[in-house]
Order: sequence, then C-alpha cells, then structure tokens
Amino acid sequence: MGARQEAEIDAWLRNGGLVVTVSDRAARALASAFHRARRAEGLTAWPAPDILDWKSFVRAAWEERTRDGRLLLNPLQEQSLWAAMAGTDQHLATLLEGPRHRLAGLAMEAHELLCAYAPRFLRGNARSAWQQDAAAFSNWLSAFDQTCRAGNLLSPTRLPLELIPLLESDRLERPPLLLAGFDRILPVQRAFFDAWGAWRRDILDQPAAQILFHQAPDAQAELAACALWSRGQLAANPRARLLVVTQNASSRPIRGQIERAFLKHTSSANAPLFEFSLGIPLSQVALPKAAHLLLRFLSGPLAEHELDWLFSTGHAAASPRESSGLQANMRTLRRRGLEQPQWTLNAFIAAFIHQRSANSRLPTPWVNRITEAQRRLADFARRPQSPLDWAELVPQLLETAGWPGARPLSSAEFQAVRRWQQAVEASGSLGFDGRRVLWADFLSVLARTLDETLFAPESQDAPIQIAGPAESAGLTADAIWFLGANEDAWPAGGATHPLLPPDVQRLTGMPHASPQLDWDLAHAITTRLLASAPEVHFSYARQTEVAETHQSRLIAQIAGAAEPLPAAAPPPEPLTIDFKDSNRIPFPPGKVQGGASVLTSQSQCPFKAFATARLAAQGWEPAAAGLTASQRGQLLHAVLHAIWGGPPDGIRLQDELQDLKDRKSFVAAHVHRVFENEMLAVLRQRMPRRYLELEEQRLTGLVTEWLAYESTRIGFEVTETEVASTIHLAGLTFDLRLDRIDRLNDGSLLVIDYKSGDVSPKSWDLPRPDDVQLPLYAGFALDPKEDLGGLVFAKVRAGDLAFAGQVGDPAATLFPGLKSNSTLVKNALTAEQLIDWREHIEQLAKDFLAGRAEVDPREYPKTCERCGLETLCRIQESESQAQLEAEDDSDSMEAADE
Ligand code: SF4
Repeated sequence: MGARQEAEIDAWLRNGGLVVTVSDRAARALASAFHRARRAEGLTAWPAPDILDWKSFVRAAWEERTRDGRLLLNPLQEQSLWAAMAGTDQHLATLLEGPRHRLAGLAMEAHELLCAYAPRFLRGNARSAWQQDAAAFSNWLSAFDQTCRAGNLLSPTRLPLELIPLLESDRLERPPLLLAGFDRILPVQRAFFDAWGAWRRDILDQPAAQILFHQAPDAQAELAACALWSRGQLAANPRARLLVVTQNASSRPIRGQIERAFLKHTSSANAPLFEFSLGIPLSQVALPKAAHLLLRFLSGPLAEHELDWLFSTGHAAASPRESSGLQANMRTLRRRGLEQPQWTLNAFIAAFIHQRSANSRLPTPWVNRITEAQRRLADFARRPQSPLDWAELVPQLLETAGWPGARPLSSAEFQAVRRWQQAVEASGSLGFDGRRVLWADFLSVLARTLDETLFAPESQDAPIQIAGPAESAGLTADAIWFLGANEDAWPAGGATHPLLPPDVQRLTGMPHASPQLDWDLAHAITTRLLASAPEVHFSYARQTEVAETHQSRLIAQIAGAAEPLPAAAPPPEPLTIDFKDSNRIPFPPGKVQGGASVLTSQSQCPFKAFATARLAAQGWEPAAAGLTASQRGQLLHAVLHAIWGGPPDGIRLQDELQDLKDRKSFVAAHVHRVFENEMLAVLRQRMPRRYLELEEQRLTGLVTEWLAYESTRIGFEVTETEVASTIHLAGLTFDLRLDRIDRLNDGSLLVIDYKSGDVSPKSWDLPRPDDVQLPLYAGFALDPKEDLGGLVFAKVRAGDLAFAGQVGDPAATLFPGLKSNSTLVKNALTAEQLIDWREHIEQLAKDFLAGRAEVDPREYPKTCERCGLETLCRIQESESQAQLEAEDDSDSMEAADE
C-alpha cells in the first residue's frame, strides 16, 4: 500500500468511516499503521479505528439483524456434517475416517464456491443435470441443507446470502464502506456491498518508481540475494519496513530454507529482524504436540522416537531433574537392549520396576502423577461421552500429568497454550448434535484440529515481513522483493474443483477455471504490490531442484526481461566473527572405553572419537518390529563362536568340519541353542514364534553355506574365538576383542573378523584408514613369537560369502589353486605394511591422548552418513560455509580471468 492510499484510508478512518479488509491480517496491518500515525502526531490517546475484516464484518451484521436462534456452525462442526453426508453414500460407506474427512473438506470448499460465485445452484432443481462426482456432491448438499433446517443450524458461508435480502428490505442509513486490499471482489461480496449501500474500493497509488527483475542461478542464490538486499536496506535506513513475498511459505522445507537464509544474513543481536505472516500447523508446535502425545500415551502406545521427543521437551515432567531422569531412562533401555518400536505406559513403567539401582528407576513422582492421570481417564473412558465432556477432562488430565512442565513459558509459548485450549474447545464443540464418542475418536478429532489450525505468534512488528502473495494484501512497505517469479509459479496455476461441473466453474468464473482467470488474478495482485512501495524487486531462479525454469511472462511484461543479479554489496561489519578454536584438552593416560573403535573413530574423524569416547555421545539404532541388523549380527557371531568353540558341542579343525555327516542339522542345533539361551527374553516374548522360526531357518541356511565355503580351505585349526586381550599403546590402555584366530598349515596365525555387511580391506588403506581393528590387533595384541599369516574379513552374507583381506601366501595357506590374478594373491600382506600400520596407529593414539578433536571427516558426506553425530558437530553448517567460500573463490577467479 502506497503513501497516497495510506493517507486516504487514514482520512477515511479519522472521519469515522468504516473500512472492510480482505483478511484479518490486512485489518491488523491497517490498525497498526493508524496507531503509528497517531503516535507520530504526538497523541497519547485516540478512538479505535473502525476496521473489520470481511468475515468479522459479515458476522457482526448478522448478529445485529437476526434473532432466529439458528446455531452458526464452526468449521469443525460443519466438516463433521459433510463427513456424515459423504458417509451415507453407499459407494463411500467403506471409506476410512481420514479419506472421509478429506472428502468432507472438499465438499465444504465446493459449497463455499457455490455460495460465492453461483448461489443459484444452491437450489436442488438447478443441479438436476449434474453428473457423476458432481451429482454425488449435489445429493450431499441436499442432505446437508435438510440437516441444517431440521437442526436449526447455519453454515457461516451462507451468511452473506442470508443477509442480502435483509439489507435490501431495511431502509436504515448505513455508513459508507471503504474496501481495502481486495485483489478481486467475489460476486457474492459485490451483491452484499450493493445491498449495504454506498461503498468503494481504495485507490491504488502510482506504480513504484523503481521496478527491477533479477535472474539468479538457483534458489539458494536467489534467497541469499534477497536476504542480503534486506540487510543492505536496513543498514541504509534502520526504520525501513520491507515486505518479502513468496509462494508456498507454509510448506515446511521452503519455510526452513527462507528462515536459514534470513537468519544467516540478517542476524541481529536483539529481536529477529524478520517474521512470517503465515503460521504453521499447531500439531508442529512443541507445547500442543507434547500435550497430544501425553494424552495418547495415557491410553495407547507411542512410538519410541515420540517418547524420546516428548521427554526431551521437558513438557512431560515437573522439574528439570525429573526431565533429565526420564531421558536417562530412555538411554538405559537402549543400553540394556530393551528398545522396542512402541511403548504403552504400562509396559514402559514395567520395564523399570525391578531395577535395584536408584539411578535406573523412573522418577517416583512422575510415575505417581502419570498413573493417576491414566486411572482418571480409564474411569471416564468406560463408555462413550459427549465431546464436550472429553474437552473438559483434557485439561485436568494434562495438569495431573505435569504438562506444560516446570519452566516458565515465553510469550509465544503462552500464546501456543491459548491456541491449544481453543483447539480442545473446538473439538468439544462437536457435541452440538448430542453425539457421544469414544476417547480414541475424540483424540483423532483433536489431532485433525491441530493439523488444520495454523499458529503464528503475535507479530512483533519486525521490519521484514514475509508473506504469501494473497496474505500480503494491506501490508505497508518501503520496498518489496517478490521471490519465485518464474513462468510455472506466477501466475499461480491450479486445477478446477473435482466436485463441481467444469462448465459451471467456467461460466461463473471460479478460480482456475481458465488460464485467463489465473492471469487476471496474478495481474491484480502484481499491480497492487507495485502500488504498495516505491521500490519493487522481482526475482526467479533459473534452475530448481528438478528442472530449468523461465522468467514469468507477466512480470517480464511489466518489468522487462530479467537481468542477472547484481554483485552483492560488501557485507557490513559482522556481529560475530569466526574463531578457530585450536585448544586441546589432553586425555589422562590410562584406560579408554570403546576398544579399537576409538582409534577407528580417531582416523575417521577426530571429533567422532572425542564425542564417543570422552563425551559418551552415542547414536541409537531405531528399534524395529523384527530383529535389527545389529541383533542379527550378534546372533551370527554367537552361532559361529559356538560352532568353532571346540568340544563338547563345537569343533576346531577343518578335518572335523569335513567329517560332519549332517552339517545342516549340526548348524541348526547350534542356532536353536543360541536363540534359546542368548537372545534377550524380552525380544523373544515380543516377536511372534513363527517369525523367530523363520529367522532360525534363515541363519541356519547362511551358516551352513559358510561352513561349506570354509570346508574348501587348506587345512587349519581354530585356536581361539571371541579372543579378549588388553594392549598398552602410547600411554593408553585398550581392551580388545577379536572374533577368531586360526592356525594355518605353515604354523602362522590368521586373524579373522566376521562381517555381515559389505566390507573391503581397502578400509585399512593409509593414510586415513576407515577401520583399524584388525591392523591394531595384528600389530599390538599378538604374541611377538608368533608369525602373522594374514588378516581377513569373513564376509558371511547371503550370496556373497568370501574371505576379503591380506594374507602372506594365500595360495599356499588359504585356498588351493588360487589364481595369480585373484584379489587375495594380488594384495598379499607385506612386512612393510605391518610397520606402516603400527606407526600410523601409534600416531592415532597419540593424537587422541593429546586431545585432537577437530571436525574433519575422512570422506564427506560418506563418513558422516554412518556416524549419527551431525547434530552435535554441526558438520552441515561448516560444509555449506566451505561450499559458499569455494563458490566465491571460483567466481572471483572467473572474474579475474575475464
Ligand atoms: S557427523 Fe561427520 S563430521 Fe560429525 S562427528 Fe561424525 S564423522 Fe565427524
């Protein structure tokens, strides 16, 4: 909105006129502008301006004029009626609840379109020729009307239509209206304003004096340019008000990208410099999400990751101590191998009930509160209740359970709690028709309400407002930047409504009924934006994630062809400066927890070793419905250990292996014993018997095949399995465990590590090995009097059974007849290699001891993908910074070349 337009609205309001805006957002923006102007005049008090958004205006007019006692439905009530109508359709009777409610949402939209564009089709006989889906909708609409009549109910969408005859019949003098921010006036609005009396639209200012259209190489560069431009504008004029217009700002990834770019380039020591005008679903806001999870936990299972999240928020505990206790309990579960995909409250409490150590028990006050809430709910949930009664019970349950936690709430959190209460009340309002529902049904209504309710904390009047094209109506700005002005996105296209006949939509000019309508609307919004600030920038990215894009024809017609982005102005003095912390905190010599994996981590990334061995940071493998990869690996190791463990049940010699009469039965007996004796009882109880039988069969088949492979080896003896040893290295002590050692036919030793994944001896390559376990063992744990024959991974994988590694003379000691071009022969183990490994591993130990802990992955992003510590080391941030710097360097080199 430009200065002239603002002055016009201001004068209108000062003269006691009534302003109607297109949206609530626009009404708030105009009210703020009015108050700012009064303060600028030095006033300390003034009458409130008469500004109403369209919906509130109609509602107020209705309340003034009617006393017929009809209940005005809220959106949830109306949707439930539409869902009931759709449910009576025999073709849709089997639809699940979710799709039925989505269909009800579509029916509500179709009803709204008819009311706004084509009210004559609200009469049943006007719809008699409608076919297929439109005919089905027509039946639902008739049923909806009948239900409303019978129940004395009214859809708010019908209010303008109900009011028009009332306004036409009463001859009272009404104040003239000034309409602000309407990019288009719908037919029903026009009829309503005509019936009201005098009205007119605000007059747009002259188009901006400066209109520019930029072309960026990609979306990231486009966002960065916009954020840097905003920073430059505010540096030049700290009182400037900027508007950034973007489409899809409600989509989570796009909102996240915008947020990151603006945080990075416009960070401020005080309040944030930007805010979004469009909120996010309430179900994604921490406090309401925690409340809903707690309610679900009282009566059903939560996924383990949901429980992790709930406890980490502190909203389920009465004190920080209780909260950290609950989080520690989750870690204890994992350490004891008791993870499971879902937890009921009872199972969760039972998992800790017999713990001896006080540290491993659940906090008693928490258990008392949550079980008390559970008991209250169970009493109430014996029979269906009115949604109103459930809504009354919810705050009592949450209070008993300790929500929202002990921490004082911030202003935004307080508003979120208020919004949550409204969502609960709205869900309770479904009791308007006297229905009774089960607790589970009430919870799913509440979940839907949270998904469909958008929440944005009250505006802090940040200088940069980020809004969608439609929501930007009525916003004041000194300069505007419109992002994403490409051919596919602007004019914004869309599909016709699936429940209305296309010819009705075309004839009445409903949205997206023709490309021309989309063009006209986009043109109106663009014209309004051009008149809303003296300086307007448009931009688009030439390359999106999926395709190359072209400039918007509409914007090119107005602003001329897009030009490449100008070089960014030199950044102002940063508020923060990068500081490379090269301090090292030495590790006290002595024992290190974690064995060989510490040195493997030190080689993969020094920070990983620091975080895991010194900070005890750990990534968890998510629990699965069946056995996880690591549980399968443990069972495989246990079976091979039992088989090669020697008498009385096992064997040691290759001859014994070849003499086995029924190898498969021999293996099956070992597998069965391992499943019976070594698998955690809770795992066995949780998994179906038949599933475990299939797992036993699978493992039996795999190990039998492996033994067949080993039986073709040159004679050997297994000297030890699950070998434990302790080594001392550079002042550190490591406890090592090795899967197996064989004595080969020449008397030398073969060091073996079982692997069920895809591994290669390349992982031992210097200068940065990806795995040092076997070289460490071979170099430091073997008796110096023994000869080392080789080190190998035993790859026990279905369809990929092999020894992979380095052996001194594999053709003479491992497999007869190995060809000279086989990998084992080509990569024979050498004495020099052993010396190099020893020196390198010793250096790794010294580095760990000295406290070398830089974030330096061996191979980004591959190393990080298997690590799980990225939230701690924040590698993405430093990598994207490095990438930007590399791009800057290559840009400046190109510029120098030119
Ligand atoms: S995620 Fe990558 S950078 Fe971070 S600690 Fe792990 S390996 Fe190092």
